[in-house]
Amino acid sequence: MSPRASAQSELYMDLPPPQWSEKSEKMVVVMGATGVGKSNLSIKLATQFSPAEILNCDKMQVYRGLDITTNKVPIEEQLGVPHHFLDQFDHTRGELSPHDYRSLGRSTLEEILSRGTLPIVVGGSNSFIDALVSDQYIVDPYVYWLESVSPKLSYNCCFLWVDVSLPVLYEYLDMRLDEMLQRGMFSELCEFYKFKYDNKYNNKSDSYVGIEKSIGVPEFEEYFHRFPPSRQLKSLEEKNLREMHFKKAVRAAKNNTCKLAKEQVGKIKLLRSIGWDIRRLDATETIKAILASDYSSSAKMWEKDVFEPSVKIVNKFLEL
Ligand code: ATP
Repeated sequence: MSPRASAQSELYMDLPPPQWSEKSEKMVVVMGATGVGKSNLSIKLATQFSPAEILNCDKMQVYRGLDITTNKVPIEEQLGVPHHFLDQFDHTRGELSPHDYRSLGRSTLEEILSRGTLPIVVGGSNSFIDALVSDQYIVDPYVYWLESVSPKLSYNCCFLWVDVSLPVLYEYLDMRLDEMLQRGMFSELCEFYKFKYDNKYNNKSDSYVGIEKSIGVPEFEEYFHRFPPSRQLKSLEEKNLREMHFKKAVRAAKNNTCKLAKEQVGKIKLLRSIGWDIRRLDATETIKAILASDYSSSAKMWEKDVFEPSVKIVNKFLEL
């Protein structure tokens, strides 16, 4: 967090409670770091509070492609719940800005609300969540969003934050990346770079746009630059070198995922400190059980610590 942002959050703590918007449109917003189970919670809540529709708020998952790398929820796990802004945009046509997301997202929200359906916003991109729900939204490329976030909201939001103790989450994220590689993340990146090299350029890039920022893409750039998907290796020396670059890329992707998780939690805490009424749900025991491969306990922990308290909070929120 920048010194200005932290000074601002301290400043806000002395202010009176936020002036919530008079608007009565209600929505649920599921927040949290990468890997904590936000998508699963949002789908289960959508089923519980049917009819409900989900608005994805992960700035990488809005694009088509890289399904494993960006951890999109597979169609069969969406349980028939309509999802918006998931797998929707063509990344070759440019980057979707928070400003674009605000205008497109708000018209989708209006449509969902006009159908009498509950919108459930879910994702780890806090700048997109802010762009969607904040009353005043400053579009200034020179002002970093954390320095301009506001406690005043345009909608009546029930914020749920799925939290996991960071050391436990880091261990889980390391394991998840290995699993993603086993599920095909590497072949997905191979295809991505093959397309990029065939259609754009064969040089290393120094800036990334849209989906190219997904963790895994920049980290594997050096690897694919040295060992393009089409290149056949003959010598053992070359194969060893490739192995070394592969491990380096995987390590960097793991480190950057943990860094992202820490930043996401910091942003949620900041939004809380300026007055967003964010309810925390602790999924640490769930993730610990997953790490111990104790899946029946993890399912029970998730029900007890995350799902049931969420249902109670949302029920109360909808009754008011
Ligand atoms: P910021 O203001 O920094 O943009 P944000 O909360 O809007 O914050 P995040 O969603 O945290 O943005 O994304 C920041 C970066 O984290 C992305 O640019 C990307 O590198 C990485 N990232 C985020 N989501 C994913 C994802 N689903 N898969 C892979 N990488 C991701």
